[in-house]
Amino acid sequence: MLHSKKLIFDIDGTLYIDGKLLDGAKELIAFLNRESIPFVLVTNTTSLTARNIQKMLADAGLEIELSHIITPVKSAISLFKSAKYKRIAIHSCSAIHSEFSEFTITDENPDAILLADDGSGLKYDDITAVLKNALRNTPLFTLQQNKFYSRNGEMVADLGFYVAGVEYITGKTVTNCGKPSQAILTLAQEVLQAKSFSEMAIVGDDLEFDILGAQKHGLTGVLIKTGKYLPGIEDNFAKKAHLTISSLYDLITKL
Ligand SMILES: [Mg+2]
Repeated sequence: MLHSKKLIFDIDGTLYIDGKLLDGAKELIAFLNRESIPFVLVTNTTSLTARNIQKMLADAGLEIELSHIITPVKSAISLFKSAKYKRIAIHSCSAIHSEFSEFTITDENPDAILLADDGSGLKYDDITAVLKNALRNTPLFTLQQNKFYSRNGEMVADLGFYVAGVEYITGKTVTNCGKPSQAILTLAQEVLQAKSFSEMAIVGDDLEFDILGAQKHGLTGVLIKTGKYLPGIEDNFAKKAHLTISSLYDLITKL
C-alpha cells in the first residue's frame, strides 16, 4: 500500500512529543534517507516557526532540511500572497509574527484576519478585536482548527475551539490554512514533486485532521497509535484510516 509513495509526516505526537523523539523516529529518518524515499514534515503547530521546529528536532537528534518542514504559517503566507493581501490582523501568537515580515501586521483595516493563538494567551479582548473586523466582512483565516492536542500527557483544547466560537458569533466561515487544507497539502506536493495527491501518503496521530481529512483529498492515510491517539477513537467516525500502525518501527516494516 505504501510502496513508491512520497511521505508526509506529522511532527507532534508522531515523530516528537514533550521534548523527546518518539521511539523509532531516528531509525525511520535514517531508513528514508538510505532508501531515497522522499518525505516532508507537515505540522499544525502554530506557536513555532519552521526554523524553531528545525532546531527543536536537531536538539532531539533529528536533522531535517528547513525546506522539508511545512507549517500552516507557510500555507497562510502563500494564500495571502495569491490574494494580494498586504495588511493582516494576527490574533495573537507573537512567536510567529516575524514570519510575516512582508506584510503589515495591524488591527486597523486589515485585508485578512488570521487566528493564530497557541492556546496559552487567548483573552476575551482578543475575540472582541476579531469581531470588530469580522463584522466589516474582512476574510477570516486560521492556522489550523484541531480540536485538542496532548501536552505533558494531558489532552488540552486546540485552536479549533476558538475557530468554532468565532464562526458562531460572526456567522462566517473561517478558512483553514493547516492540515488537511488543500493549501498546505499543495505545498507538500510541490516540495515532494508529486504529480497528484494520490502519489502521497500521510502518517499522523490525529485521525480526523491528519488522516481522514487527507484521505478525502486522495492521499493514503496511516494512523499511528502514539501522541494524541485515544483507544476506540475510530468508533466516532464512519470512515477508517487506510492503515493503522502501533509505532514508527512498525511503519519501517511496511515501506
Ligand atoms: Mg500530531
